[in-house]
Amino acid sequence: MERRKFEQRFWAKVQKAADNECWLWLGRKMEDGRYGRLGCSLAHRRSFEISVGPIPPGLCVMHSCDNGLCVNPHHLSIGTHRDNMLDKCRKGRDNRASLSPETVIAIRRARASGEKIKAIAARFGCSVFTAYTAATGQSFAWLSDSDLPGKSV
Ligand SMILES: [Zn+2]
Repeated sequence: MERRKFEQRFWAKVQKAADNECWLWLGRKMEDGRYGRLGCSLAHRRSFEISVGPIPPGLCVMHSCDNGLCVNPHHLSIGTHRDNMLDKCRKGRDNRASLSPETVIAIRRARASGEKIKAIAARFGCSVFTAYTAATGQSFAWLSDSDLPGKSV
């Protein structure tokens, strides 16, 4: 398909607004309803490609506005899957994320320095199970110490 035609068809499905507002996708949605869909691809990824340029292989397009249906290129940025997970986690959208990434790292460092799980759980105000799975990497397996700037706890 001709590029300009494609772009016209794309933006026809978008409720445009000011640059600093969310531009809502009015077309079809992914099954979970959280993201817009165009054919097999995600609408916000197509928006990024049209407006900014190609997305390097393996990278995600992230929303600064936290609105999955938004396709405003000003609200989109490129990140790794890990950046995306960190971002979601900070915004509390990860289902298992009752802990912030900073807390998970702090828990792991405390455990590595020999602190008992029960004491860690009490200190961070979470359940022993939550502290244990975070400390052992059963939860937040994607998160590694090097993701965060080093600070002793
Ligand atoms: Zn937005």
